[in-house]
Amino acid sequence: MAYKVAVLPGDGIGPEVMEEALRVLDAVSRRFGLVFEYREAPVGGVAIDEKGMAFPNETKEICDWSQAILFGAVGGPKWEDLPPEEQPERAALLPLRKRYELYANLRPALVFPPLITSSPLREEILGGKGFNILVIRELTGGIYFGQPKGIFQDNGKKKGIDTLIYFDWEIERIARVAFQAAMKRKKRLTSVDKANVLTSMVLWRDVVKKVAQDYPQVELNHLLVDNAAMQLIRNPLQFDVILAGNMFGDILSDEASMLTGSIGMLPSASLGQGKGLYEPVHGSAPDIAGQGIANPLATILSTAMMLRHSFDQDEAATAVESAVVSVLEEGYRTSDLYRGKGKLVKTQDMGNLVAGKI
Ligand code: NAD
Repeated sequence: MAYKVAVLPGDGIGPEVMEEALRVLDAVSRRFGLVFEYREAPVGGVAIDEKGMAFPNETKEICDWSQAILFGAVGGPKWEDLPPEEQPERAALLPLRKRYELYANLRPALVFPPLITSSPLREEILGGKGFNILVIRELTGGIYFGQPKGIFQDNGKKKGIDTLIYFDWEIERIARVAFQAAMKRKKRLTSVDKANVLTSMVLWRDVVKKVAQDYPQVELNHLLVDNAAMQLIRNPLQFDVILAGNMFGDILSDEASMLTGSIGMLPSASLGQGKGLYEPVHGSAPDIAGQGIANPLATILSTAMMLRHSFDQDEAATAVESAVVSVLEEGYRTSDLYRGKGKLVKTQDMGNLVAGKI
């Protein structure tokens, strides 16, 4: 049986890093006897140029057909003057998340031991070994989507409104994703809220506590978001899995990823009832596009997440992650990671090196 993968390279460095991710998947296919069927489709700026829209119908059909979507990155200066709702990120990524109800965003933020000096945190805070945090962010609800939303007139004055609303079932389903993820890790879960001032967050805390009864092995604690932001910097080693709503998760996952010091290393998964979307955290990096120097490891690590979460191929996923660590341990670095020591390599070399280790 072939695993069906929609391949959406997108713009800028998207196609460059995607090529290396597919090279690594080919190596996985050979080593583990897995068969992948790929269908490539345009998305983002390149789709606007070719088809007049960022998420064209033929791309939708290929995504519908697939079991998992591998996404590069979209956007760039060429499309920045379009109206906001037609711009590549807004017009491609948001409809994709909505179409497949991708409500759970998983963002591992980990410091690979060979890259420990890339973290802006002092070595004693990192305990000499770095941290490994999984941030799980609710992606389709909360204040980014709640109604009413807009700028309205009120007695001759303007008022801007956003609505923070969560239904119990929305909290329950994301909490289950977080508990299940914690079960596969160190069994520690930190739920982030602002229950001291926000009523929706009182419900958030209540529902998370209720779901916890089904996972007695997981140690659960609750942190207010302001404290969570501080604790991430003070002692990131205390965290295993962090669960947060849409806005708090947005902010904390960026903070956590910055603490690793290398945007070119960070993968992500967005999961729903069926399909998963896998993409690097970084954007299309127009400043380095076409030079063959982009770091493909975030996209390669996104394929590991796909193997694990969409195809239940844990062993193959671990092989990809171990191959990345092993190449880093041997001192190979793309220019974003290079600090004067080690061996400077280009995008394609890095892909070949990882593929060679599988
Ligand atoms: P960016 O992530 O593209 O780049 C930020 C900086 O990091 C740049 O200096 C870039 O060269 C560097 N960088 C990023 N990825 C790298 C990699 N793999 N290897 C080496 N260096 C890397 O963010 P930005 O500059 O704010 O945005 C550029 C474009 O990407 C914009 O059009 C933005 O809208 C879009 N964007 C898209 C996504 C997405 O598709 N999911 C996410 C963020 C930004």
